[in-house]
Amino acid sequence: MTEQLPSKVDMEKIVSLCRRRGFIFPSSEIYGGLSSCWDYGPLGVELKRNIKEAWWRAVVQERDDIVGMDTSILMHPHIWAASGHLESFADPLVECKNCHLRWRVDELQGNNCPSCGGELTEPRMFNLMFKTFMGPVEEEANVVYLRPETAQGMFVNFQNVLNTTRKRLPFGIAQIGKTFRNEITTGNFIFRSREFEQMEIEFFVKPGTDEEWFNYWLQERLNWYLKLGIKKENLQLRQHTKGELAHYARACDDIDYLFPMGWSELEGIANRGDFDLVQHAKYSGKSLDYFDEETKEHFIPYIIEPSAGVDRSALAFLCDAYAEEPDKEEIRVLLHLHPSLAPIKIAVLPLSRRENLVKLAKEVYADLRRHWMVGYDDAQSIGRRYRRQDEIGTPFCVTIDFQSLEDEQVTIRDRDTMNQIRLPIAELKGTLQAKLEGESLFVLPPGGKIWKEEKSG
Ligand code: ATP
Repeated sequence: MTEQLPSKVDMEKIVSLCRRRGFIFPSSEIYGGLSSCWDYGPLGVELKRNIKEAWWRAVVQERDDIVGMDTSILMHPHIWAASGHLESFADPLVECKNCHLRWRVDELQGNNCPSCGGELTEPRMFNLMFKTFMGPVEEEANVVYLRPETAQGMFVNFQNVLNTTRKRLPFGIAQIGKTFRNEITTGNFIFRSREFEQMEIEFFVKPGTDEEWFNYWLQERLNWYLKLGIKKENLQLRQHTKGELAHYARACDDIDYLFPMGWSELEGIANRGDFDLVQHAKYSGKSLDYFDEETKEHFIPYIIEPSAGVDRSALAFLCDAYAEEPDKEEIRVLLHLHPSLAPIKIAVLPLSRRENLVKLAKEVYADLRRHWMVGYDDAQSIGRRYRRQDEIGTPFCVTIDFQSLEDEQVTIRDRDTMNQIRLPIAELKGTLQAKLEGESLFVLPPGGKIWKEEKSG
């Protein structure tokens, strides 16, 4: 964490909205909860799916130099010896309550964090990895670990991907998946939990080109958040100091976000050099060389790793989208979520529950649902229904009124401007499509403007 600036958003408000509207609940709540584990409710699961979809689209679908994978959570235990996870987490550790760096007690001088001077936790014999047993017998030979990162599954499949896809350097592997860390200090809602999801890329490059690719990925990843609507002033790149760098890393920058508790890591981008492939070649006894057909050289590629958290991204998108706006005598709470992230894209609202109006509204609802996640709400006044949709970030409401029965027209109301347009039902789908999906979200238009709501009449 760097300089602490007061964020505009209060975490309590985000937690309360998430709970009230069904984004996120504490895990095992009726049993009193389970520390730092969370359940994503009906809206939260949509938000998370949309984040993962936007990431996959940007890094796999719209590129021809990255392929996807889905590797297993349980892996051969030697992997964790090769990666350094077994060794580095088996000592008595203390953790800094401020910057969360962990320190081996035997290497500490003084009682405070050597990096930021923060207060330290009590020492504990600590392995960050959750340990379990494979098969019916609980003995040391059957120990396996829940992965603490998705990365290792991709490193050990480097040759498989190379041989089956015929990709040449530079190319990458991308993966989204659950990971588990027995964190010493947790808290700040979904920011730091013990079970979470990561979105990771392992990008293999020729040594010597690594710095260029490292810088490329910093920009690329920063742009991804900007394109999805995160405000520029709430993002910053933070370079790791030499002392902070992990043993394997040649360079590492964090993309920090101004969370309610201050600037904190949203994503880490590391130049891991050849550490991972060298280690796995050594421990497995298999060659993980690359043969460059042009230069006829054998070498071990370097790896650039952009590693992002789905849950931290969800928190950042929620905090950034949250707004309270004056609305006559009241306050309008809304989420300015980018349309591609909004859990519900459209809400269909019949003005009353009169039978013929409901019939038409249900027809429109059924038609739109074939294309998007659509909500339907006929309870209470139309004003209240708009507010309910604003609060969960629904970009458009389609209102069906008595006039609609006569002229077959409906009203679209825009979340951000509250402007409304009236149009024939026959044009509804095409218009919504243009508004929701009109431009490629991941290709910057000339001039670099990312997403702009249309002012409607
Ligand atoms: P921190 O120092 O905040 O614990 P880290 O440096 O250990 O994070 P990495 O190992 O770089 O994190 O993991 C990559 C990404 O995974 C992080 O940027 C973050 O988005 C996510 N992540 C890591 N640990 C957690 C956690 N306990 N809960 C939620 N997300 C996490």
